[in-house]
Amino acid sequence: MIPGGVDVHTHLDWNFGIARTVDTFASGTQAAAFGGTTTVVDFCNQGPSSPLAALEDWHQRAEVAAVDVGAHMILNRVEDGTLADVEALIRNEGVTSFKLFMAYPGVLMLDDASIFRVMRAAGELGAVVCLHAENGPVIEVLVREAVEAGNTAPRFHESTRPSVLEGEATQRAITIAGLTDATIYFVHLSAREALDAVTLARQAGRRVHAETCPHYLFLTSDEYEREGFDAAKFVMTPPLRSREHQDALWQGLGTGALSAVSTDHCPFCFAEQPYGMLYSKQQGIDDFSKIPNGAPGIETRVALMHDGGVRTGRISLNRWVELVATAPAKLFGLYPTKGSITPGSDADLVIFDPNEAWTIRAAEHHSRIDYSMFEGREVTGRVKKVFLRGNLIVDGSEWLGRDGMGRFLKRTATTA
Ligand SMILES: [Zn+2]
Repeated sequence: MIPGGVDVHTHLDWNFGIARTVDTFASGTQAAAFGGTTTVVDFCNQGPSSPLAALEDWHQRAEVAAVDVGAHMILNRVEDGTLADVEALIRNEGVTSFKLFMAYPGVLMLDDASIFRVMRAAGELGAVVCLHAENGPVIEVLVREAVEAGNTAPRFHESTRPSVLEGEATQRAITIAGLTDATIYFVHLSAREALDAVTLARQAGRRVHAETCPHYLFLTSDEYEREGFDAAKFVMTPPLRSREHQDALWQGLGTGALSAVSTDHCPFCFAEQPYGMLYSKQQGIDDFSKIPNGAPGIETRVALMHDGGVRTGRISLNRWVELVATAPAKLFGLYPTKGSITPGSDADLVIFDPNEAWTIRAAEHHSRIDYSMFEGREVTGRVKKVFLRGNLIVDGSEWLGRDGMGRFLKRTATTA
């Protein structure tokens, strides 16, 4: 028995305008539960409105959640009133972490001045600043030139986002944060150069943390060599990297340089039907830069980390639980309510059979997504029963939970 998994990186029912993730909070959280995850911290996007108004909208969509949910706030503009909203979110709304993009100029990216201002405010208030660290402006030039040269296949998604640009942005964020009291957390770290920067900062005693995701640990950029448009299934940011980077990430999990494993579940269907083009990778059939960036994974994280981590001897049983539950709960103000089996914790429990072998198939998933990046992969170790606050919600293949039984988690500010 292990504590329910805590996945602090999901994009459920996220409307980008030009694309929308296909999982609702109902389908996405049911999929999470079947995968042994009972707590999800999802990204609420400020979008065109104020952060407080965006949270209201997020709450409406999240009402149908079947497991407990918290929210991080993505800030895509810092203008008059933004920092007042940040303070209100932390003090009153239980939203104690903020995500800033260093990529996607003109859409989500903040400039360095805005990043500095948010970090300074967050540091004073004990909030965590999450960063998508890639040098967006340089990537934009590389992408534009690739498309103009007729290099429009999905594999050019990778070659236009080189790992050094993740390393550069990671180091820049660490440097800027050093002028403030902010605790920072790098989402979906994929590159050795980024890991090196985080490792050095941690050795210097800085409050710098990073997560990676199962796809960076179990897949490589070889997937982009697939025939035809199939490689679009692996178009997420950052892209899959070479084996050298993957080996470094496993080392980072061992040394503690990496603090958590999250999914970045951001599901866009491969096929256009049945949900429509808005929800589909097919938008980019003629141009990789138009493929919605994101991939699924909410249902397979806990089992994959057991199979490829514990069974192969790369991480211990305890480290597995720490990476998928305890550490993310601690970092994001949920511990010991979540991520722990102790008196006073919520009875979020997973009965896991470490010996049962099974095969990952999208057709058997509970998510609405129509593919898995791990299709056909055999894994040993399977979630058998899941309890949410003492209620049995998953019993083998049977769903006993219900939409809306998830609670909103008001998180506490932390100075991890
Ligand atoms: Zn993400």
